Amino acid sequence: EKTLQVRNLKKHFNLGKDRILKAVDGLNFDIYKGETFGLVGESGCGKSTAGRTIMNLYKRTDGQVLFNDKDVHHLSDEENFKLKRQMQMIFQDPYASLNPRSTVADIISEPMIIHKLYKTEKERMARVYELLEEVGLNRDHANRYPHEFSGGQRQRIGIARALALDPDLIIADEPISALDVSVQAQVVNLLERLQEDKGLTYLFIAHDLSMVQHISDRIGVMYLGHMVELTSSEQLYDKPLHPYTQALLSAIPIPDPDVEDSREQVIIEGEIPSPIDPPSGCVFRTRCPLAMEACAEVKPVWQEVEKDHFVACHLYNDDIEDKTPIKGQPNLITN
Ligand code: SF4
Ligand code: MG
Repeated sequence: EKTLQVRNLKKHFNLGKDRILKAVDGLNFDIYKGETFGLVGESGCGKSTAGRTIMNLYKRTDGQVLFNDKDVHHLSDEENFKLKRQMQMIFQDPYASLNPRSTVADIISEPMIIHKLYKTEKERMARVYELLEEVGLNRDHANRYPHEFSGGQRQRIGIARALALDPDLIIADEPISALDVSVQAQVVNLLERLQEDKGLTYLFIAHDLSMVQHISDRIGVMYLGHMVELTSSEQLYDKPLHPYTQALLSAIPIPDPDVEDSREQVIIEGEIPSPIDPPSGCVFRTRCPLAMEACAEVKPVWQEVEKDHFVACHLYNDDIEDKTPIKGQPNLITN
């Protein structure tokens, strides 16, 4: 059962003077009910824009987003209002998204008031207390203000607010990136427990593969507005196919100091090109050690190279005959 279907989704920003920023340039993926889908890429790759376009916070430029089989960009006002209940977002910086002048109770109540969920304040407050407990806080926190809390506690408040409307899908945009390492695991554990209890579906956005490795069922890797690889979490770590994924993975240190890290360390050289003037052909070619002539001319097709393993790279395309790497490409630095 599919909660979300994303088809050739594009979000371009017109910057004037014929300059167009292609933040998201043709994404295709599904998210199944009850799963956690990790969306990963370096900052500026378009992952947050993708999240916001899926939420209909940005109008799409092209393509389609089906949420529970409904096209989110083609809804009546009433349907859109309902959709807002079923899809919620949590943000990287909970502090910036919590009104400093509102009490925790007001922050969590607000969506319930907008959607007229409870007839009396008493019923609503009972729900607020329940939500606070569900996220590991308690009713004594209800009358306090965001600045009185630690970063991890604020993220819990943000999660409680997202849960207030009992959503199906939560889009979490780097929800743990701003937190201390010691607190990150607690928030991840909380999200996992809530998912199990409530049957939630997550789109979990992160800039680092190590952050999504444990929580995700499947992972999509983005680079410069494109998805370059998508498969199950295990498959991605065991057998990454795209040169970009391979480079990202080799940058993750093995956490156990007793295990010798025998993998090749691959360092990606060079800066990410601008999404205003992306490279022709494969967008990764300016940094890819294996780039061949075809990479500058032909855009790689998104293909399922083995079951449930998608990749966009000419290395896996039998129609490309000459796969000799071009001289002068950035080197793999191995050690
Ligand atoms: Fe590298 Fe070419 Fe594959 Fe792009 S298509 S990742 S440039 S080998
Ligand atoms: Mg972002």
